[in-house]
Amino acid sequence: MRVIDSINSAKNTAFSFEVLPPVKGTGATKLFGDIERLMEFNPKYINITTHHSEPLYVDMGNGLFKRTTIRRRPGTVAIATAIHHRFGVPVVPHILCNGYSLGETEYVLIDLQLSGITDILVLRGDKCKGGSEQQCESHRHAIDLLRQVNRFNEGFFIDGTQMKERGERFSCGVACYPEKHEEAPNMESDLMVLKQKADEGAEYAVTQMFFDNRKYFDFVERARAMGIEIPIIPGIKPMHRLSQLNVLPKTFRVDLPAELVSAMQQCKDDAAAAQVGREWAIAQCRELIAKGVPSIHFYTINAMDSVYEIAKTIY
Ligand code: FAD
Repeated sequence: MRVIDSINSAKNTAFSFEVLPPVKGTGATKLFGDIERLMEFNPKYINITTHHSEPLYVDMGNGLFKRTTIRRRPGTVAIATAIHHRFGVPVVPHILCNGYSLGETEYVLIDLQLSGITDILVLRGDKCKGGSEQQCESHRHAIDLLRQVNRFNEGFFIDGTQMKERGERFSCGVACYPEKHEEAPNMESDLMVLKQKADEGAEYAVTQMFFDNRKYFDFVERARAMGIEIPIIPGIKPMHRLSQLNVLPKTFRVDLPAELVSAMQQCKDDAAAAQVGREWAIAQCRELIAKGVPSIHFYTINAMDSVYEIAKTIY
């Protein structure tokens, strides 16, 4: 079943989560074990992130450094396929503009189609780290990538040639930002972008993490007022480290409510912080479920135990 169908047909708020492909050279055993635990809560789909190459400076031993690139978490298509087959759950690999040429993206789409994967999350991608320049001619915005996927769905390659046989079409989700994307001049223009994506066929949007449900409810209200009708899936991240008090606002441009900050500041260590983070996320989820959200999407990075405990409490 496609993501949009499972969202639309769910009688209760659906459970889904995001995982990262394993770090290069570490294998998939731990990841499979983590997913196995969360299968208890009947996830409707599992997202798999994508990470483009980062610059790496190799010490040449002569006082000079050679600049190269490394992809620390390769294998999104392969791990998505493996998860799909192993657990029988729909998977949603993320596809990015940044770091991928149009031709490379086309090959990714072909690989996904041959693997029987029909759901994707279409994104611009994080900025290249270390101020590295784009290595290739990429799409500028997620909507341009979405248009490439649409054209592919219609049976055309980027050079305009037609496929001999059209495969299963892709269903696309996109990202959205209840606290506005950091580069958007204002919320109105960011919402206009979301509207354009919905008009281009995005079937649903998944939010950036937020810690104040009011921001999500207000965002959905504004989106609906602008005629955006697709499901807007709340993304929840349990805090689990004291350092996240500074890291999360800086990295993801999100506000942390004063009450949460004060509770975290009273924690003596990360274990206590994780407990506060879990309780906060549970309260968020309970309110979201009471308001009838179709699905809650969990950001699991380094917080698998917390997501397990939260899911056990609310599902
Ligand atoms: P876009 O839609 O391109 O928007 C980026 C900015 O440009 C916004 O300010 C928008 O308002 C503006 N904009 C968009 N279109 C136009 C236009 N046509 N003209 C002018 N302005 C425009 N990153 C990764 O690297 N890998 C991942 O796997 C990943 N997964 C994610 C999953 C979710 C649910 C979310 C919310 C984010 C994820 N990200 C991931 C991060 C994401 O790629 C970044 O937030 C990125 O900066 C923006 O992506 P986007 O798809 O929203 O970009």
